[in-house]
Amino acid sequence: EFISVNNLADVIGVRPAQFVRQMEDMGFEGVTYDHILDAETAGLIAAEFNFEPIFDTGIDDLTAAPEPEDKSALPPRPPVVTIMGHVDHGKTTILDWLRKSSIAASEHGGITQHIGAFSVAMPSGKVITFLDTPGHSAFLEMRRRGADVTDIVVLVVAADDSVKPQTIEAIKHATEAKVPIVVAISKIDKEGVHPEKVKQDLAVHGVNVEDYGGDVQAVCVSGKTGQGMLELEEAIIAQSEMLDHRADDRGSVEGWVLEATTKSHGRVATALIRRGTLRPGDIIVAGTTWARVRTLRNEAGVIVDEATPGMPVEIDGWKEQPLAGTEILEAPTEQKAKDVVEQRLERTETEKLGEDMTAINQARRELLEKRRLEDAADSESPREDEQRTGPKPINFIIKADVSGSAEAVLNSVAAIGNNEVFANIIRSGVGPVSEFDIEHAATADGHIISFNMPIEPGILRIAELDGVKIMDHNIIYKLIDDVKATLSEHLAPNV
Ligand code: GDP
Repeated sequence: EFISVNNLADVIGVRPAQFVRQMEDMGFEGVTYDHILDAETAGLIAAEFNFEPIFDTGIDDLTAAPEPEDKSALPPRPPVVTIMGHVDHGKTTILDWLRKSSIAASEHGGITQHIGAFSVAMPSGKVITFLDTPGHSAFLEMRRRGADVTDIVVLVVAADDSVKPQTIEAIKHATEAKVPIVVAISKIDKEGVHPEKVKQDLAVHGVNVEDYGGDVQAVCVSGKTGQGMLELEEAIIAQSEMLDHRADDRGSVEGWVLEATTKSHGRVATALIRRGTLRPGDIIVAGTTWARVRTLRNEAGVIVDEATPGMPVEIDGWKEQPLAGTEILEAPTEQKAKDVVEQRLERTETEKLGEDMTAINQARRELLEKRRLEDAADSESPREDEQRTGPKPINFIIKADVSGSAEAVLNSVAAIGNNEVFANIIRSGVGPVSEFDIEHAATADGHIISFNMPIEPGILRIAELDGVKIMDHNIIYKLIDDVKATLSEHLAPNV
């Protein structure tokens, strides 16, 4: 719960002297190396050093189950495929053909819907899941967010155009991600095309297809006529069986959000299940939102009872819209989901405000240093003594109802000042003014801004006792006027 300045500096990996300077920048005075800090103060200072404080709220975050070492006893799951290749080489046409065959095969029929992914059942009963957005950005964006959903890349190369810049780029992305490639040589229905040239050109770029001494499968297809499409699907299945994709369909549910949008029946998100079986009534968390699953729908808009690994499914019942690429984890109870979301929100806000504060303090330091240098250069200045240290900082702590208003207040107040005094924001946060805020303000000889929030009477009393001014506002321009008035009170009478 408590840590000394020396020890915290050690944990963060900065010299104690640098640490003390940072604390003084934040408004703490008379800090010594064996000064004892409480957890909240320690966290705030650590955040200034871009250290993410972990607040021990006693709530464990949800975590994914460890991958089992031996998967051989688990049931097989469908492979997840992304289609990549050069523009106009026929990616969309191939996806459209596959999607149509998927809908036609579903016994309910239905209207084709775009939900981010769809599954195709082969005549053998085996299933392949295709991500519905062709191209590299979707693949890269998901990976950037940490979602490694693609098992196999289908590299589409038009037989009449062969390897082009985006083909090479796709090869690079798939190789970097260690995702195996199946080549689809497209537009094979066209007259006078050269599939052999495509194979030769691919070999130049490190993709060695079967007839050319390699082990990469290549299939000639036409998304227009459907020629070769079944063979393409078989090649994907063969690749998947070689990789032996398996997943546990029991236990806590895990997955990824592929897409999220709002439809007539509310907020929905397409999820790709990675583990477990999702059913209506289950409680899931994705990033900083959660859902009690109301209904599950497949890509044909048909309601389904459950979703197993490798199956894309549209989920409704979200409290807020989740973000594409976030991980879905099941929570045992609604309370647990709420607690985890709240804790994650707090953590993001702390991080974000920490970043803002670091940027603002940095800008302030640079400004002060610049003015100091200017003053030093201007040795003729008659007021050199007063100006040598630059304008005088007047410390403020900002507390606001939500992070949006905290940011708005921060941005408006941090800009106030002239060459004699300026508003120096030493901290900004969400939530009502606390005893700690008052203590911090008192130590820093600063003021507190409380924006759009009630203040507890007890807190007002403590502030009065400690001689700390709480500026209570809910209109920005009135607050700005108050800050200006406060700053002018600090002007030396002779200036
Ligand atoms: P994408 O940019 O890779 O998604 O390519 P598209 O699927 O949009 O196709 C680009 C153009 O090629 C369109 O005019 C399609 O009609 C045409 N096209 C795509 N696939 C085939 C095919 O198999 N055969 C023929 N003849 N034309 C095709």
